[in-house]
Amino acid sequence: MAEQHHKLIILGSGPAGCTAAIYAARAGLTPAIICGMQPGGQLTITTDVENYPGYAEPVQGPWMMEQMQKQAEHCGTTFIYDHINAVELKKPPFTLKGDGATYTCDALIICTGASAKWLGIPSEKALQGKGVSACATCDGPFFRNAEVVVVGGGNSAMEEALFLANICSKVTMIHRRDSFRGELVLRERVAKNEKITILWDSEIDEILADAAKGGVVRAVRVKNLNTGNTSEIPAEGVFIAIGHKPNTDIFKGILPMDDYGYLVVPKGSVTTKIEGVFAAGDVIDATYRQAVTAAGLGCMAALDAVRYFEGQEASEPSSAA
Ligand code: FAD
Ligand code: NAP
Repeated sequence: MAEQHHKLIILGSGPAGCTAAIYAARAGLTPAIICGMQPGGQLTITTDVENYPGYAEPVQGPWMMEQMQKQAEHCGTTFIYDHINAVELKKPPFTLKGDGATYTCDALIICTGASAKWLGIPSEKALQGKGVSACATCDGPFFRNAEVVVVGGGNSAMEEALFLANICSKVTMIHRRDSFRGELVLRERVAKNEKITILWDSEIDEILADAAKGGVVRAVRVKNLNTGNTSEIPAEGVFIAIGHKPNTDIFKGILPMDDYGYLVVPKGSVTTKIEGVFAAGDVIDATYRQAVTAAGLGCMAALDAVRYFEGQEASEPSSAA
């Protein structure tokens, strides 16, 4: 299999990876980005983005990521369309084994992101961008004064419901058990919020669309798991908040992870326990998971990579000596 070496490889081409590439390229590190199965990352599966600074009007997610890629290329980044299946990170040069080639690098920035978990019903996939979302912060404002539902019973679901209650006319939480697993303080806030109704022991059976309005979501059919009865809840927005899965399988046993699979880095830092390996974006961030925070972390990782190489050069014996 072909082999190629790069000074700096950035794994993942979402906002974190592209921003890391822009900073690293401008600093002269000639980075290569390996794009993975989802070139451009999570924003390529959404429509309107209206919370990324710099655009007065909402922009389309795929277009925004195309722009980020062009900007990174313009600065001197090479984009490689391959997916990495295994890594060896004991010491530099680090090795990444892809479908198409084996890559080695002197430093690595991991920006492999995280993927929202979905219920797995066919209507959910078909109606993404037409009312079904996995991010209230991102898409909630599109449902101002509308009725919405939130699925899940953890901290994320309760936070999403509380956020949506500030914007929407009614929020119905649908949870498969009869108690929430999230924190007491959030449970109390949800219980006190008059805009939030909870359907316990229930799951979404089907998401229903309005053909007359171009196929946007109009309701959900909910099944009570105790009785088997179904009922229809009107909703224009359906927010699935049943957890996220960080894309970190290839780092198992190599880098420390929390119980959910997020890479663990020191607070406020993007360094890993391996010198020369950095991590940025949703892959280290279970809390914010926004394009702008991912981009910020990508910037930090690139600047740390620059310092890493500068430190190496400074410690090398001078040829004049
Ligand atoms: P990601 O965007 O997840 O990119 C990960 C990259 O890693 C991808 O290119 C992938 O192919 C690559 N990768 C993964 N594994 C491998 C591997 N083994 N080998 C090679 N490459 C690999 N945020 C906002 O701020 N505003 C919004 O409006 C908004 N809307 C959203 C709508 C939806 C439907 C979703 C799902 C998310 C939305 N978000 C929004 C969240 C935002 O998309 C993420 O916070 C952001 O994309 C995270 O960026 P990232 O670079 O860390 O990772
Ligand atoms: P989580 O704690 O794993 O909760 C997921 C919820 O979704 C659970 O209630 C689960 O039900 C439900 N669920 C899972 N799969 C489902 C399915 N297929 N159908 C229906 N329901 C399903 O995930 P999270 O809420 O995203 O939280 C992840 C971590 O981040 C946690 O450690 C959490 O504490 C943390 N977090 C913290 C904060 C905060 O501190 N403010 C905010 C957000 C997240 P069951 O309960 O029946 O399993």
